[in-house]
Amino acid sequence: MFGHDSRLRQWLGHWLPKRPVTQLDSPAVAQEGQGDVERVRSQYLESEQRFRALLESLPKVAVQGYDRDRRVIYWNEASTRLYGYSPAEAQGQLLEDLIIPDAMREGVIGAHQLWIHEGIEIPAAELELRHQSGEVVPVFSHHVMLNEHTDEPLMFCVDVDLSDQKRAHRDLEFATRFDRLTHLPNRETFEADLDEALDGCRRRGLGLALFYLDIDRFVDINDTLGYEQGDSLLIELARRLSGQLRATDLMSRVSSDEFVLAFPAVHREDDVMRVLHKVQEVFRQPFSLAGLQRRVTASLGVCLFPDNGSGARELIRNADVAKNQAKLEGRGGLQYFHQHLHDDLMRQHRLAESLERALDNDELFLHYQPQVSAASGRIENLEALLRWEPLPGQPVSPQEFIPVAERSGLIHRLGDWVMEEACRQRAQWRDAGLKLERIDINFSGRQMGRHDVFERLEAHLRRYRLGPREIGIELTENVLIEADTRILEGLSSLHHRGFRIAIDDFGTGYSSLSYLKQFPVTSLKIDRSFIRDAPGQPKDRAIMEAAVFIGHRLGLEVVAEGVETDEQLALVRDIHCDLVQGFYFYRPMSADAIERLLVGEVPSPGSLSH
Ligand code: C2E
Ligand code: MG
Ligand code: MG
Repeated sequence: MFGHDSRLRQWLGHWLPKRPVTQLDSPAVAQEGQGDVERVRSQYLESEQRFRALLESLPKVAVQGYDRDRRVIYWNEASTRLYGYSPAEAQGQLLEDLIIPDAMREGVIGAHQLWIHEGIEIPAAELELRHQSGEVVPVFSHHVMLNEHTDEPLMFCVDVDLSDQKRAHRDLEFATRFDRLTHLPNRETFEADLDEALDGCRRRGLGLALFYLDIDRFVDINDTLGYEQGDSLLIELARRLSGQLRATDLMSRVSSDEFVLAFPAVHREDDVMRVLHKVQEVFRQPFSLAGLQRRVTASLGVCLFPDNGSGARELIRNADVAKNQAKLEGRGGLQYFHQHLHDDLMRQHRLAESLERALDNDELFLHYQPQVSAASGRIENLEALLRWEPLPGQPVSPQEFIPVAERSGLIHRLGDWVMEEACRQRAQWRDAGLKLERIDINFSGRQMGRHDVFERLEAHLRRYRLGPREIGIELTENVLIEADTRILEGLSSLHHRGFRIAIDDFGTGYSSLSYLKQFPVTSLKIDRSFIRDAPGQPKDRAIMEAAVFIGHRLGLEVVAEGVETDEQLALVRDIHCDLVQGFYFYRPMSADAIERLLVGEVPSPGSLSH
């Protein structure tokens, strides 16, 4: 039936592989000149059959033919696969009754009429047609009119099934908008949804509460029970939280164990408390993990719109800041956002940046504070104390910048610089023949956490040919308590070789004395706060006496830190501290000042220097 018009075939050429189409197109014309009519006819019939066979066999190209009343006159197998109707069922049915959804019905009839009567073609388009079962069938549909301008116009529709592409598109869209594990919106989607919700709140004069939730010790769950259990916890938590939300509330998993929840129209304190309670409620029941019932807690940061921010991103960040603060409180912490938290963070961030520059710009140097014998006042050792004088700017206290360096990870470079500089200085004084025992270097917790910290120290010691009597180290109690076997082994090895290891700020940490016997230490440095208060506070004095007593019984040297007055000095002598470090004798001072002191240019000890 399409033999009369080669347009369909030509046009189908777009859909078909190139070679078969030229094979189909050529015979009738090419052979005509031979005058062998019969041969041409048979070739022509053969061509038409091949063409039909081809149409029938195309699995993905559904072809239907309709007469001038839009009744089906042709229906290939692919059409059956696509729309469900067999050729027998389709034959004679109206196009609009078969595969056209109700909403398109009038439009299709009208467009067909226009084509027949006025020659206005129906353009090719992506359409959603209807399967026999009622389901939607996405297709790309081309239309051709044969025998146009005759009484028998035939419309052929050639439809390509787009289901796979649509599905792939949907999957892709899902992957880019949602979290694969919990099926919650991802951060980007959440941000966009939240901005929309905020617009709504603004228009209606409402507030909004945003919660940032972080599962406590999720890493432990992953490490001890495996990722699968970690995943199932996340899925279950997402399920429980979803159960607490109203239709207008939003939720997202923003990173591995972090969720954010937004509650439009929740702003008054009692409303916030109510949703907070609902969120905390989901942790009341234990979670079933690896066949066991486990209690799980989370830390929560809360911030409010419009008080703590105007846009999604700002609010999420501020709730995150509050959550980090909550984390510091330990498990199950809760913290509301306060502007000063944010300002503090920004200041720390800026400080970390300028500290990094300071390392490159020689703004750092070491001061040294002598430790003297309590009995004789003779200088025994020096403690190296880091100093930073930004250019331009005021000096920044190590109490301020060391914690920042720890948080930003800069402590490793900083610590390395201190080790190197202290070792260099110690070697220089040795080479100059100055009479001095050790320089003690402070090590912070995070610094000890680095796997190669001992190798680095050893490298500096080797480079400057320094031995165990020339360099010592100071650590706080908490660093020792939290030390893993690698750190303890490293310390033990130094200890065995005769290095001095002091517990700094003794009495301010966990303060359990039983650990003293387990750790490879040689000295206790009693914290300044005890010395400050001891003269007037019998309890502080008692603690100091006990520390000295136990220290000595364990064979440790006891140092009193922060001695400033005659009275304090008398006390530390009275209770038999071995060494004294404090402004009473010396403040921390520059290497030059120490040198003058050690060569005897400056009278010592006792005068309040600097
Ligand atoms: P720390 O190790 O306990 O150092 C002793 C601190 O007490 C020093 O403060 C020192 O100046 C101060 N001090 C000494 N005698 C007196 C006194 O009689 N009265 C008063 N009021 N203070 C006294 P600084 O230099 O500000 O250092 C503070 C802390 O910063 C140090 O405490 C230490 O924990 C840390 N730090 C300093 N340098 C370094 C370093 O190179 N590395 C590491 N990781 N931490 C360092
Ligand atoms: Mg110290
Ligand atoms: Mg100290």
